[in-house]
Amino acid sequence: MTYHFETQCIHGDRTKEQAHPYGAVAVPIYQTATFSHPGIGHSTGYDYTRESNPTRTELEKMMSGLEQAEDTVACTTGMAAISLLMELFSSGDHWVCSEDLYGGSVRIFDSMGKKRGLEFSYVNTADLAATEAAIQENTKVLYIETPSNPTMQITDLRAVRKLADKYGLLVAVDNTFLSPYFQKPLTLGADFVVHSGTKFLGGHNDTLAGFLCTGNKDYVEKIRYIYKTCGSCLSPFDSFLLIRGLKTLAVRMEQQQKNAKKIAEWLRTQPKIKSVYYVGLPDHPGYEVNANQTSGAGSMISFQVDSEETARTLLEKVQLITYAESLGGVESLVTYPMLQTHGDVPKDVRERLGITEDFLRLSVGIEHVEDLIADLEQALA
Ligand SMILES: *Cc1c(COP(=O)(O)O)cnc(C)c1O
Repeated sequence: MTYHFETQCIHGDRTKEQAHPYGAVAVPIYQTATFSHPGIGHSTGYDYTRESNPTRTELEKMMSGLEQAEDTVACTTGMAAISLLMELFSSGDHWVCSEDLYGGSVRIFDSMGKKRGLEFSYVNTADLAATEAAIQENTKVLYIETPSNPTMQITDLRAVRKLADKYGLLVAVDNTFLSPYFQKPLTLGADFVVHSGTKFLGGHNDTLAGFLCTGNKDYVEKIRYIYKTCGSCLSPFDSFLLIRGLKTLAVRMEQQQKNAKKIAEWLRTQPKIKSVYYVGLPDHPGYEVNANQTSGAGSMISFQVDSEETARTLLEKVQLITYAESLGGVESLVTYPMLQTHGDVPKDVRERLGITEDFLRLSVGIEHVEDLIADLEQALA
């Protein structure tokens, strides 16, 4: 029997027969580098932790269940997962990417990816015609973030799958912003999902992790081979922390979204706020498409204030909300994309996307929403 998402977050698909040793309710941390062999040519199923480890396997199975993947590898960081994905491709292969990707993804593509002979084009993938026009003879993959970062553009994932089928392409989606609680790209036709597990999945701003989930059977073995070869594996202890984080994923996502809706509505009534980018507002341009392919809008809000000075003052004056990079945890964080997450994106691209000196991004946590609004109110005063 398949359990509901909330139940799977806590129990995975574990049956009574697969109980942990000694009846341990929490997964044991198998803090071991290697495993003894019962005899020559025999294995317990585990040989060496770079390849696999029981604590990590539990986490990977859990993530496969939540994303409805064939297989998942748990990596040290989101960037490690993205670099594994890059390893599937060869010199001369071309990628079409969403144009306002996470800044670190642009950095790895344009530096290390290019050095390896990969080619990248960036387009607004919310615009299907523009996406199709960017496809070349050597294009191999469409690499999507939806909602995008930080301008919250929504790409129609079913339409992207159709486009990919027309040209024989693979589809990869960075699902960090919504997590499988709200969006399951593999069920909409994507071949791969990448995650920064550091964000909503871990959920507590205390652990780095990443995931590469595979929906396409043809790639399961290839990815496992690259994974054990490159050594991007998540440690047993951090795997335990991620399992612990996942247990509350559903309740955190719900509460964060509830808070975010209230804050987005409040922000747009404020005189110093010029525009609010939140996918859960019905007049957001991607609202309909998002509603058709997800079960929620999440808790990431970007907004434009009336001047650079207002932006800088807000960052200095927030008390409860922390001025810090990252997102998705129980603590609310405010980010200055121009200087932080998107500091490495070329200036002309940044400005075209609207990532300017008056643009801020808020990751809404699970504090009481009235305290968060009061904090923003005094910081904007
Ligand atoms: C943070 C982030 C990453 C990178 O993940 P790390 O765990 O920091 O390496 C990738 N994509 C998105 C959307 C992110 O927010």
